[in-house]
Amino acid sequence: MYSRRQALKKVGTAAALATVAPLAACTLSDPTRTLGVALVGLGNYATRQLGPALQQTTLCHLSGIVTGTPEKESVWQDRYGIQAAHTYNYDNFDRIAEDPAIDIVYIVLPNFMHAEFTIRALEAGKHVICEKPMAMNAKEAKTMIAAAERTGKKLQIGYRLYYEPHHLALRDWSLAEDIAGLRLMEASLGFDMARPGMWRIDRAKGGGGALMDLGPYCIQAARRATGSLPVEVSAQAYRDDPELYRDIFGTYCWQLRFTDGSLCNTTASFSAYVDRLQIAKGNNWAALQPAFSAAAELKITASDDEALEDLPAADYQQIAQLDAFANNILQDTPVLASATEGLIDLQIIDAIKIALESGQAVSINYD
Ligand code: NAD
Repeated sequence: MYSRRQALKKVGTAAALATVAPLAACTLSDPTRTLGVALVGLGNYATRQLGPALQQTTLCHLSGIVTGTPEKESVWQDRYGIQAAHTYNYDNFDRIAEDPAIDIVYIVLPNFMHAEFTIRALEAGKHVICEKPMAMNAKEAKTMIAAAERTGKKLQIGYRLYYEPHHLALRDWSLAEDIAGLRLMEASLGFDMARPGMWRIDRAKGGGGALMDLGPYCIQAARRATGSLPVEVSAQAYRDDPELYRDIFGTYCWQLRFTDGSLCNTTASFSAYVDRLQIAKGNNWAALQPAFSAAAELKITASDDEALEDLPAADYQQIAQLDAFANNILQDTPVLASATEGLIDLQIIDAIKIALESGQAVSINYD
């Protein structure tokens, strides 16, 4: 267990990097062959973050693509030297089973397609990374876990912040035993990003707007900071633009209560900007702002007078996440950002939806 000073001092040091990247130490039995990754769905996240990150990974590399947009095929083949033989669409996707160049399939599709393509990839004999939220609800997530167990393949959720040094330092600070007092948390994420026609604002495709899209970051942060599961949730939601938000809300707010009395207040919005995480224990506090955004430079501050350095590398967390999964496969070790983590977050989100419908605080069911 860290003391609070040790925890925050880790940020900006080699020790912080070692915490999240013990990967260079992993030697491949055949150093000429790193694990091949196929990206499924070549939208924003694949294009801006994952494609570039896969050029810097040590234990895996981009070896294939799956896209429903033929024009993207040659663009990606030219940019990353991907062969036509390792290029698939959603119809011939299952042929990936016979492609030895692909070890890992990374699902970067809209939320309603996560379960189907994860299960198809597992059935094709591939290890899978699936983006957050893992599925549309906990029931679907359980079918994905069952498929991973049935096929004996590994499944990681795209929770990049498990591998992000600022978040790990904040977690260690929060869990340090030498700070007493009630733990009060604020974990919020929002952008003015809803536009007509987006799958994210269609309940059948996104599952519930910002609650599904941005909520998992906030729920994860609170769970990491307490090292435990919330037991009860209250929730409120607001529709600022009824034309835009027809079957979802623009802004979701909720409060999680943990067994030790810790509380976390969250706002997740598609209508306005917020990106921060603050953890207080009594009169001590530590905070990240911005906290969750994939490309932003995170900034940590604290009530303590520590001299805090910032870490560089916008793409670092994706690189660490990808290499950590490859390392889990090569060493046959448990996955940190596991499917169980993804399932738990969906059980919490399912409870938030029940709390919204009932207008009551509800207990969270982890069965
Ligand atoms: P996006 O809309 O930019 O990309 C989605 C891709 O899916 C597009 O290439 C689109 O053509 C394709 N697609 C296939 N069938 C489709 C259909 N029926 N409807 C709509 N699109 C279809 O989305 P994105 O921002 O890249 O997000 C993709 C996934 O990645 C989401 O689950 C999201 O939550 C997740 N994500 C994670 C992070 C992170 O930091 N971990 C960041 C951004 C997005």
